[in-house]
Amino acid sequence: MSGPFKRLETQVVHAGEPRPRIEGAIEMPIFQSATFEYHGEARYDDVRYLRLNNTPNQLALHAKLAALEGAEAALVTASGMAAITTSLLTVLTAGDHMLAQSCLYGGTHDFVTREFKGLGLAADFIDADRPETWAKQLKPNTRAIYVEAMTNPLLEVADLTAVVEFARAHKLVSLIDNTFASPVNFRPVAAGFDLSLHSATKFLNGHSDLVAGAVIGRRDLIERIRHKANHLGGSLDPHAAFLLNRGLKTLALRVRYQNDSASRIARFLEAHPGVTRVHYAGLESHPRHARAQSLFAGFGGVLSFELEGAAQRADEFAARVRIPAIAPSLGGVHTLLTRPATTSHAGLSREDRQRLGISDALLRLSVGIESTDDLIEDFTQALE
Ligand code: PLP
Repeated sequence: MSGPFKRLETQVVHAGEPRPRIEGAIEMPIFQSATFEYHGEARYDDVRYLRLNNTPNQLALHAKLAALEGAEAALVTASGMAAITTSLLTVLTAGDHMLAQSCLYGGTHDFVTREFKGLGLAADFIDADRPETWAKQLKPNTRAIYVEAMTNPLLEVADLTAVVEFARAHKLVSLIDNTFASPVNFRPVAAGFDLSLHSATKFLNGHSDLVAGAVIGRRDLIERIRHKANHLGGSLDPHAAFLLNRGLKTLALRVRYQNDSASRIARFLEAHPGVTRVHYAGLESHPRHARAQSLFAGFGGVLSFELEGAAQRADEFAARVRIPAIAPSLGGVHTLLTRPATTSHAGLSREDRQRLGISDALLRLSVGIESTDDLIEDFTQALE
């Protein structure tokens, strides 16, 4: 199937889709069927049934997502959190320990800090910028290391090359949440990671109309994660799979536009006297700009910034903008603005947020595909 589908722009349209086309349909149909005829499958996991993640719309996505990141295999799940939790519960078993980047997506951070203990698991947070400190945090039972391509909401970029080297040296499974970069900007498996995780709700689908997740990586690990998913039950519905496949077709176009638009908006905000700080790895002022430049093909569509004044000033700005919707989530065609202290990171205590550098006044912007000029004009009037 990969034959002529070499590059990402072609793969998003064609990879994984059935050939010959079903009844000649250019778009892969939705197989809205929970169960399929039995053909003598020997193992329970191979019986064709929606929860077992082996039905046509799911399989097409598995092949497409694996192709996009140059990986052996992939699995789609009912949400990004299903992808993350199912993967972690596969690579770790009771008694195991994991090293995790300190500034994780709120849901993942909550899972690690609130659920691990009851499951007999342990984790320590590492400063992902200081590889020399990691070995000290290793334990005899450390099995995995978990990082994010760009952190939410501060857009920090860890030393990802060192993470891969460290994992190999200490025989750890390396996991990376690649949601913010998307395969357009970063291909973790090619960079040496064992597993790349996504909230497909975000850039992969790109239209803010479904919730889905994906795990991409080594075939042996993906097969084990699929077995675990079959037990835990967080499988993707065929209609959502169809929509995700449709959304994926424009991934390259959307993300490249969003990269450019976010870069221009970040520069505009940085130059504005009412803005005190902009977090975007594409800016020369970003402490890890050079690293991001060497790792990524683009810097993504999400940025965060702080205005002069307190949280109230951020709320006033949010009330004045006309194009962005004030809503959590990111990566879609609509520009979305949110205050992480009240949304994605509301589950953390105020002290934890401040320790991580997430002030109450911080705003996060997910740039959509609207005109960049219109957005800049809108921000100009809102900042006046
Ligand atoms: N990872 C990151 C970086 C996210 O931003 C999110 C959601 O915001 C998730 C994972 C969880 O994904 P989902 O909401 O699809 O479960």
